[in-house]
Amino acid sequence: MKPVIALVGRPNVGKSTLFNQLTRSRDALVADYAGLTRDRQYGAAHHEGRDWLVIDTGGLTGERGGIEALMQDQAWLAMEEADLVAFLVDGRAGLTAADEQIAAELRRAGKPVLLVVNKTDGVDEHEVQAEFWALGMGEPEYIAASHGRGIGGLWERLEAMLPPELTEEPAEEPEDQGITVALVGRPNVGKSTLTNRLLGESRVLAFDEPGTTRDSIKIPFERDGKPYTLIDTAGVRRKSRVGEAIEKFSIVKTLQAIDAANVVILVLDAHTGITEQDQHLLGFINERGRALVIAVNKWDGLESDVRERVSTEIERKLGFINYAEIHRISALHGTGVGHLFESVDQAYEAAMRSISTNALTRTLSAAVEQHQPPLIHGRRIRLRYAHQGGSNPPIIVIHGKQTKRLPGHYHRYLESYFRREHDLMGTPIRIEFRTDS
Ligand code: GDP
Ligand code: GDP
Repeated sequence: MKPVIALVGRPNVGKSTLFNQLTRSRDALVADYAGLTRDRQYGAAHHEGRDWLVIDTGGLTGERGGIEALMQDQAWLAMEEADLVAFLVDGRAGLTAADEQIAAELRRAGKPVLLVVNKTDGVDEHEVQAEFWALGMGEPEYIAASHGRGIGGLWERLEAMLPPELTEEPAEEPEDQGITVALVGRPNVGKSTLTNRLLGESRVLAFDEPGTTRDSIKIPFERDGKPYTLIDTAGVRRKSRVGEAIEKFSIVKTLQAIDAANVVILVLDAHTGITEQDQHLLGFINERGRALVIAVNKWDGLESDVRERVSTEIERKLGFINYAEIHRISALHGTGVGHLFESVDQAYEAAMRSISTNALTRTLSAAVEQHQPPLIHGRRIRLRYAHQGGSNPPIIVIHGKQTKRLPGHYHRYLESYFRREHDLMGTPIRIEFRTDS
């Protein structure tokens, strides 16, 4: 389970600047897909062997009413799901009334809070220090996010504040859980209906209830004699208990489930079409390199012109994900659900495949022969050999000269060539380059 940090503070104190600093190390590994809308609010970060989830909560103003209140609700919800809160203030502007209000709210929430004074470039530290001490939130950490200053120290402080259960080694997972599948999607797309249908058709094995409300339930089951583990983000078990409130949709839970899965089934709703939130989820799944199957649910009872319109929309909005099988299903009636699992198996197999250096190098040579890399200052970029650097997602490491100068389109050409040649359907692949001297 990854620790979750929420960045809170009033608008303009530098939250999104800090967010970019903290998540940068990961971003560098992410392939640049055309048309991909990055979700700026949730990001993965990596620091000294630990993975984190960082949430930029947007602005807290302390004002009430209208859209402001709504945004604040979102921010507080995100904060409730966090393990730690980094409370940002602006060292140049000094302490404001809004800061004091937020501090009071944070105290009430009872989360571990680190006060972070940003924009300390060119200010008198002593003066700033005295001012923010008055907030009574302990020793602040001083940074200048836009200069990348103080980030190392900030990580150290955050690390030291982690509750012990998050720093302990996780308990051993039982052997052979089979393929771990996460079923994710916006509220009301039909996740629980689909989960119940799946489990209804399968042999469900015993499982433990989660330790905390933030944990998802892992449900082991067998389908056609094969073991799987479902990470339940829909709160199926809870919903089915009489009298218990339906859990609210949790982005953090969803993102953690995506991370823990081998294969993600993203559920979309044919009735509402594809929304921005769907695309954000898709972007995150892709960024995390998970194998993916898309289920367009509620395909029952649609007029043919609606079906056509939705299909066009899928083409237009999901076109940038060229590796995922798309299934039109009805969780309610159970149509198409069997085929969904054929794609899950296929995606898993592709994601976990190991391919020899020989085979990859042969593919590389064939790709280069068919379409040469461009000339740079009259010299050809040379690609020499390829080997596999990881799986789920498959990483293909290509060695050569001047590889940094390869244009994006050639990058994409190689990717689709490798995908086709090695039948890597259902999983993103990462191509990395190494420059040999
Ligand atoms: P947010 O609204 O809290 O997300 O704030 P932003 O990250 O959008 O930053 C607001 C403004 O402050 C931007 O113009 C940033 O470039 C600037 N800013 C952020 N960090 C620093 C810093 O460390 N020093 C200075 N001088 N400006 C900063
Ligand atoms: P969740 O919030 O994603 O878990 O969504 P639910 O499974 O609770 O479903 C939301 C609503 O959509 C419920 O009223 C379901 O009965 C309905 N629903 C789910 N699957 C289907 C489907 O395949 N077809 C139709 N027509 N309705 C569905």
